[in-house]
Amino acid sequence: MTVRTRIAPSPTGFLHLGTARTALYSWAYARHHGGQFVLRIEDTDVARSTQESVEQILASMHWLGLDYDEGPVYQMQRLDRYREVVEQMLAAGTAYRCYCTPAELDEMKEAQRARGEKALYDGRWRPAPGKVLPPIPEGVPPVIRFCNPPEGDVTWDDLVKGPITINNREIDDLIIVRTDGVPTYNFAVVVDDWDMGITHVFRGDEHINNTPWQINIFRALGAPLPQFGHVPVILGEDAQKLSKRRGAVSVTAYEEGGYLPEAMLNYLARLGWSHGDDELFTREQMVGWFDGSHLSKSPAQWDAAKLAWVNAQYIKAKPDEELAPLVAAQLAKRGITADERLRAICALFKDRCETTVALADWAAAFYADVQASDADRTQHVTEAVRPAIATLSDKLATVAWDKVSIAAAIKEVLAAHSLKMPALAMPVRVLVMGKAQTPSLDAVLALFSREEILKRLQEA
Ligand code: GLU
Repeated sequence: MTVRTRIAPSPTGFLHLGTARTALYSWAYARHHGGQFVLRIEDTDVARSTQESVEQILASMHWLGLDYDEGPVYQMQRLDRYREVVEQMLAAGTAYRCYCTPAELDEMKEAQRARGEKALYDGRWRPAPGKVLPPIPEGVPPVIRFCNPPEGDVTWDDLVKGPITINNREIDDLIIVRTDGVPTYNFAVVVDDWDMGITHVFRGDEHINNTPWQINIFRALGAPLPQFGHVPVILGEDAQKLSKRRGAVSVTAYEEGGYLPEAMLNYLARLGWSHGDDELFTREQMVGWFDGSHLSKSPAQWDAAKLAWVNAQYIKAKPDEELAPLVAAQLAKRGITADERLRAICALFKDRCETTVALADWAAAFYADVQASDADRTQHVTEAVRPAIATLSDKLATVAWDKVSIAAAIKEVLAAHSLKMPALAMPVRVLVMGKAQTPSLDAVLALFSREEILKRLQEA
């Protein structure tokens, strides 16, 4: 058997973090087993699906490096196939037309609630031997419903949650085709998973209630059942479901926020899955380890600080020549064009940055004027230190422009004015970088031109 997995996002917004994590698990599972991973776009909710969203989803998949072997397959391009299967089901008696109006259905549900029963379709249009169906009303377009087995249990051994059983009496004859001829999620998903030969379905556990219907439809079609793994939701830091109202939930937001895709994947992987105590691992290691075990049964909680820590580790480890273009892109958004110094700037600042945005904040000081806070100026650029800054300016006007010579000049100024390093370094940093804390002063100064440093020191 070739393992085939898929991710099936609905294009109604950005790629959600939860969907990205499920995509990662599906992808890693397929890669682990030398199988295939398919991307399917579930666009049957015509009112809410947009092309823009499709493009954002594809871009996020690409950014994360979750490459797929087939797709994107669009459900709306498969309507003929769904129609064909529905015709077969109608002929086989596993589906039927229902002419209930919305008002009638409301009434049915009201009555059930009033009796204290669960609101379920009562099967009034379901054919049965000897049963007389109501006369077909005029002008009411029918939906098509699935003949769900009325009795018995649906049981599956969930890859994440273990054995799950739901009794058929808990569920009803669900609508598989709407009045406009568009199939519903539960039906299209089965036909697709069947046609695409999907062997393992990983998805969010909000779909657990759908799975019994899907299993029954697979069986009615005589189709082989995939294995299901329902991954728990991701909770926000307030332990509520991660939602837009509670901050960033899209992959795009993190891309823009200066996170590296490899850090994002690493963090998402650990959010609901573990391999011993390993916190940092490469995508290849994950593929090697990801066999579907060690998936957590309980919801994971989003931890922005941990993600930032993971990202910082990846930034630190990333070669400067790979980091520089990412920071250049961040600078470009601010209208700043970087130059060949950017690599060295990345090298100097990367181990104090959690994101490439933070790195760009530092880098920007080399390409645009800086504005120190009044507090920093008052505290550090004092009357007492101005003579020393003037001496430093004089010396820097003539020294050879490299780190070693700059360091020697600074030392001479300290000696001449009987100052300790911080007393001079802090005000110079404030004037040059707009901040009192930076990496070693000589290294910072050497990354500027002499002219620029003399100009900034004049602000003292
Ligand atoms: N379109 C569904 C979703 O985005 C897919 C669910 C599934 O994987 O079956 O939730």
